[in-house]
Amino acid sequence: MAKINRIGVLTSGGDAPGMNAAIRAVTRAGINNNLEVFGIMRGYEGMIEGDIIPMNSETVSGIIQKGGTFLLTARSNRFREYEGRKEAYEQLKRFGINAVVVIGGDGSFTGANIMSSEFDIPFIGIPGTIDNDLFGTDYTIGFDTALNTVVDAVDKIRDTASSHNRIFFVEVMGREAGFVAINSGIACGAEIIMIPEEKNQIEKARRFLAERARKNKSSIILVAEGLEEGSTMEITEILKPEFPQFDMRVSILGHIQRGGSPSAKDRVIASRMGAAAVEALLDNQKCIMIGLVNDEIVQVPLNKTVKMHKAIDEALINLAEDIATFGPQK
Ligand code: ATP
Repeated sequence: MAKINRIGVLTSGGDAPGMNAAIRAVTRAGINNNLEVFGIMRGYEGMIEGDIIPMNSETVSGIIQKGGTFLLTARSNRFREYEGRKEAYEQLKRFGINAVVVIGGDGSFTGANIMSSEFDIPFIGIPGTIDNDLFGTDYTIGFDTALNTVVDAVDKIRDTASSHNRIFFVEVMGREAGFVAINSGIACGAEIIMIPEEKNQIEKARRFLAERARKNKSSIILVAEGLEEGSTMEITEILKPEFPQFDMRVSILGHIQRGGSPSAKDRVIASRMGAAAVEALLDNQKCIMIGLVNDEIVQVPLNKTVKMHKAIDEALINLAEDIATFGPQK
């Protein structure tokens, strides 16, 4: 393998608060280890198009506190095809870039893994997604900030819910994973938390509402998007006629969960992972993701992170049940 002297850094897939802190750490750690660092704009799209900028220490000053990603991000269909990846490789060669740090989720790592098997270019992944659904790491960059955003929003919704004695179904992000829902639900004191990892979620809500009906009090029900039994809207429409005494409302938090200034925790994790990614490249590592397990930096093969499923912590599910208003509903 050629000696690594020029590295590229990019953000790909969904943006997450803290990505800027990771870019900054990769850039500074790279420069401080005598590497030349280039920013690849708009993820793999920018790689294919050669939209690549030189980075220095100042390029990344004043960004650590900003949400989003200053390198911008994109979803690239062209990169899914061999021809697109070949074009991307030609562009990297043109800039003399001989290693790449990818900050993104499992889709981005799948792409990196494939390109690395086709062309002689090492990739190091840094987990950046608010969903926290990547195998091999306890935390992904952006998760903590998203949780805090949800908690802030739900606290506000609770004020209006209790003033009107309403039942609020609040939908949070997390596609097929309930990490945001279970953690923010516990933090908000949600009465019920509905997650895709568990079955019979409508029945769980139904049992709770039947108990609640006797007291006619307001409640927060936290729902992860992507429940097998239907969307939050659909589920609410099923339950409304069964409990006509309740004024039921739906609030979908949506993209506010992605934005905002990153929390201190996300900034620290992103900085640690960014520096560790550069260290891994200098150690001639290839195709690994930098993770955080028990607060220690770890290296996980990229193909493992994309193939393996990260299970939700059963202890958290049990905790939510143990401290629920009417006790365990299982
Ligand atoms: P998030 O979890 O926040 O959505 P992600 O990295 O999983 O982030 P994706 O949209 O799934 O986001 O993937 C980002 C990009 O990675 C895609 O737009 C595509 O360019 C590339 N990619 C994903 N899957 C593949 C694949 N099978 N082959 C090649 N490239 C891929």
